[in-house]
Amino acid sequence: MHFETQAIHAVPVDKLTGAVSTPIYQTSTFEQQAPGVHKGFDYSRTNNPTRKVLEDLIAELEGGTHGFAFASGLAAIDAVIKLLSAGDEVLAVDDIYGGTFRIYSHIYSRFGINIRYTDTTDIINVVDNLTSKVKFVWIETPTNPTLKISDIAEIAKAAHANGSLLVVDNTFTSPALQNPLKLGADIVIHSATKYLAGHSDVIAGLAAVNDAELAERLKFIQNSSGGILSPFDSWLTIRGIETLSLRIQKHSENALSVARYLETARHVDKVFYPGLASHKNHEAAARQQNGGFGGVVSFTLKNDTVEAASKFTQLTELFKLAESLGGVKSLICHPAQMTHKSIPADKRREAGISDSLIRLSCGIENSDDLINDLKLAFGRLDFILANEFAANNSKAVVK
Ligand SMILES: *Cc1c(COP(=O)(O)O)cnc(C)c1O
Repeated sequence: MHFETQAIHAVPVDKLTGAVSTPIYQTSTFEQQAPGVHKGFDYSRTNNPTRKVLEDLIAELEGGTHGFAFASGLAAIDAVIKLLSAGDEVLAVDDIYGGTFRIYSHIYSRFGINIRYTDTTDIINVVDNLTSKVKFVWIETPTNPTLKISDIAEIAKAAHANGSLLVVDNTFTSPALQNPLKLGADIVIHSATKYLAGHSDVIAGLAAVNDAELAERLKFIQNSSGGILSPFDSWLTIRGIETLSLRIQKHSENALSVARYLETARHVDKVFYPGLASHKNHEAAARQQNGGFGGVVSFTLKNDTVEAASKFTQLTELFKLAESLGGVKSLICHPAQMTHKSIPADKRREAGISDSLIRLSCGIENSDDLINDLKLAFGRLDFILANEFAANNSKAVVK
């Protein structure tokens, strides 16, 4: 079956009632026939029928055997980190999601888990940094927000040769465009808050694996730590996934049009979008992603200052100034002041996130309207900067 069919038909009709939309089983507990004898559900932290539909769905869409739904992407990440023990090390991509950086460096460092970073776009860096202590290689591809691409299949081979597992945060592409488990990864993670749910109305996280033993350990952690997704939020996420393939196509088309426009814009220095032939890892992206390059585009300004970028993000109208991505509505964000604020400035710049880097999440509006919105904002920026310049000069004259 093709992905778009699967995304709809892997959501089963309710066996009990024939309901075509998954019922929301808003219950904490379940009646038992005899102590310990029940229909597969005893307590909703352990298992819930609505959540189970979502968990089976993500497993199927990622080509895995087991799925898990959590209260947020970070709760999914937290559960996966708990597979590690004190003394273990993680080797991660150097422009990792800010929240993942924070949980490793400010929480799990206190529990004896060490993380090191390298530019995983070059396999040599991965191989050179693998030691017997490295239990996870942890990548995002494309990364957030500079959209670097790492070769999943190549890294999986290197990780496995070292006895390490490969964890892929697949938030930026969604399973509609990329399936890391099929490329050799061991664990795939999603912030379902983004493309999967898709409407900026829920915080949710998912994980999928294709190994029964790993699944059993994750299930144990999910039940023991309790960071589960509620029945209602599970339902919202299922509902989102049903339209994922249509949405991701439009997100990708819009992002490509916007990226092509930005390449021609006078104010713009660099444009980062894996769908552009000019992107450093365009070929790797085209090899491992199918049917599009996602909705996120980043760019830097020739005026490479926090001030200019900060002003620009306040001058668009359709692109709303907000954190997050992957929703139907277009968003604009300034990582240095927002999503990546928890990363020290020098580390941030080292990872290629310069002061003026702006991240766009292209929604599913008409691309001409989105491009026009950016053009108008650049015009407003010129006007404001020219006025400030004139004001400063007139002050100098008065002095
Ligand atoms: C948003 C995001 C997360 C965290 O997910 P939440 O649902 O916000 O907890 C993790 N990884 C990536 C790549 C993200 O964009």
